[in-house]
Amino acid sequence: MILVYVCPGCQAVRIVSRRKEVPCTVCGQKMEQSDLTFLEWSDMNPDERQRYGVRWCAQRSSG
Ligand SMILES: [Zn+2]
Repeated sequence: MILVYVCPGCQAVRIVSRRKEVPCTVCGQKMEQSDLTFLEWSDMNPDERQRYGVRWCAQRSSG
């Protein structure tokens, strides 16, 4: 199963197959699983993925 993870530190978005700890390849912080599915992710272009990461982090910090 492929999951979409977001880095709360630098808003990076990437896909990983399920595992416990997902370190960010950019800043090394622990990434968190997002609600985005792999299919939704594959429909997005790099710009949209970046915007998704930014939005996800904003929602996360606002609770
Ligand atoms: Zn990061």
